Amino acid sequence: MNSFSPNMLKTFEACPQKYYFKYIQKISMPQKTSFFERGKKVHALANYYLRGDNIDKLETTLNKDEKAIWDTLKQNEFFKKSYINSEYNLSCKIGSYWIGGRIDALMEDNTDSATSAERTYYILDYKTGSIPQNPEYDYQTMVYLLCASKIYDSNLKFIYIDLKNNQNCIIDFTPDKEKEYEKRIIKICDKITNFQSLEDIEYSKICEFCEYRKICI
Ligand code: SF4
Repeated sequence: MNSFSPNMLKTFEACPQKYYFKYIQKISMPQKTSFFERGKKVHALANYYLRGDNIDKLETTLNKDEKAIWDTLKQNEFFKKSYINSEYNLSCKIGSYWIGGRIDALMEDNTDSATSAERTYYILDYKTGSIPQNPEYDYQTMVYLLCASKIYDSNLKFIYIDLKNNQNCIIDFTPDKEKEYEKRIIKICDKITNFQSLEDIEYSKICEFCEYRKICI
């Protein structure tokens, strides 16, 4: 059975019709790539750097803006913690649904003295654009924290690193959140699974920026 990624859940919530085009009919539409290029470059660089690869040559290919963003990330207190893994696929089963996706990086405290139950693990997500409007209940946050909690039975935090404003948004994972996250994930997965009709779709403001606009409206 396929697993639901945060993007799939977000897409369905924003517009079931778009979900249908993208994930059921598997129609891919061209998008403006320049917007994503900078983010992709910094993510790739971060991955090589954390893995311990030599990135000297790659660093010379960065333009001024990219270099400033990359320097901000390198100085970030969470990015400097102990590395566990990066571009790391996580998945888990919630209710009868598989969910999962790829996280930017997983780090832990820089301390040897703590036992594994005392350690804190950090899921990092670097944003070169904006961070989610409701980060605590964003599907990305909920999916990755739930998946990581099945592996790491200790303190877990999700960190959005806002590189544009050089700020961190820190979300703690608690037993109450775990219950709430599970409830929300099951609810949206149920909706997707039981979704049948495309007739009652309403056009809205988001249609203006939708890549499927030409074939939808
Ligand atoms: S154009 Fe509007 S209704 Fe159609 S898929 Fe896009 S967001 Fe959904």
